[in-house]
Amino acid sequence: MAEKDNNPLCISLLWVQPVSRYFNVFRDETKLDINYVPHRLPHRDKELRLLAEFFNFALQTPGKMSQRVLIVGDVGTGKTALSQRFGADITNEASKHNINLRYIHVNCRQKRGSLFLILQQAVSVFHPNFPKRGYSAEELLESLTQILDEENAYVILTLDEFDSLIEQEGSDAVYKMTRIQEGRQNKPQRLSLICIQRNVAPLQRLDASARSTLQSNIINLEKYSKQQLIDILGDRIQTVFKPQTVPEDTADCIAELAHQENGNARFAIELLWRAGKYANTEDLGIVTPEHVRKAVSSIIPQVRKSDLATLNLHEKIFLLGLARTFKQAAKAHISLAEAEQTYKIVCEEYETKPNSHTQLWKYLQTLTANGIIRTEVLSSGNRGRSTHICLPTTSAAELERELTTILEK
Ligand code: ADP
Ligand code: MG
Repeated sequence: MAEKDNNPLCISLLWVQPVSRYFNVFRDETKLDINYVPHRLPHRDKELRLLAEFFNFALQTPGKMSQRVLIVGDVGTGKTALSQRFGADITNEASKHNINLRYIHVNCRQKRGSLFLILQQAVSVFHPNFPKRGYSAEELLESLTQILDEENAYVILTLDEFDSLIEQEGSDAVYKMTRIQEGRQNKPQRLSLICIQRNVAPLQRLDASARSTLQSNIINLEKYSKQQLIDILGDRIQTVFKPQTVPEDTADCIAELAHQENGNARFAIELLWRAGKYANTEDLGIVTPEHVRKAVSSIIPQVRKSDLATLNLHEKIFLLGLARTFKQAAKAHISLAEAEQTYKIVCEEYETKPNSHTQLWKYLQTLTANGIIRTEVLSSGNRGRSTHICLPTTSAAELERELTTILEK
């Protein structure tokens, strides 16, 4: 297809086409939305089957047991899509068997890691007008159990970005949710959990018993290979784009970039969508690798903008310090010590007291989770190993400009 793009005949043919009406390459753009759950998940069959196996009891002998499963994988490995696909499939199957099984998906980070807010979302599935105040998390959990008994319902509750709940509430939250089952020896078990996180490290913060309840069933999602990304894109292109508007070369180019970006399918889908948008603005009726390249340079600051807004004041200040350092020094990475220095300087500028060194570790975690920075442990001469920070894809100048605007607001 690249040859065709360079073929002068082909280009001239495109030009003589009447361009009176704007040609939209999309057939159904909504299927590129991050919240859309695809019907098929190429290269996740094995994991879907494993989930079905873990939850087989929910269809065969509901109430006889409950389950806890942990899904682990990097950003864009399909954790959210996998659990939602599974949730839709199993509830569909359950309704055929007249089993009242609900799948509830909660993003713990969006609920600021609060068990109370998480449970509130779960309860509101059954009672949308349930009072928003006047209850503790325990009482909400009690209410949920009571509602489930009343309605003879079962729930698979997915706690996405589970690390955020651990960080906020520690072992207690896990303990409460598992104890509620154990306290009901002769009654049906109604609440199962799927916990999702990027890696197992946050589990270390739990006490041994909470950890062991979660560690028995782990599903590990490997990063996608380039070929796997090509397959995922191919599938999506068919449902989203009009026929023959996305040549193989374009898909290949997107897959290559997403593969470099850690095998991140989210990045691939986002690139595909933006490249389509660029194609539309040029009214060519075809999405070319050049549109992909344009998309890459636009996507990074755009994606980050929404992430930046969710950071707290000190995270923003810390990141602004990083952005300035990277802008001034033509370096691939800077040490945490250097970052701490500039953080203190920026704090002074914004007339706020710098937080402790331990807090900086938390900021690093949040910023890594958002994919804005990456950290590496490097050996630094005779002083052993130390943490270094890189800014892989965002332009430091863009980042500085954006953060300054947000902070001034
Ligand atoms: P994670 O939660 O691991 O960060 P997501 O589940 O949000 O990743 O996936 C990112 C994007 O890629 C979503 O748009 C999702 O629909 C898509 N995606 C991920 N894996 C697959 C797959 N195997 N098949 C089709 N689409 C996928
Ligand atoms: Mg996710």
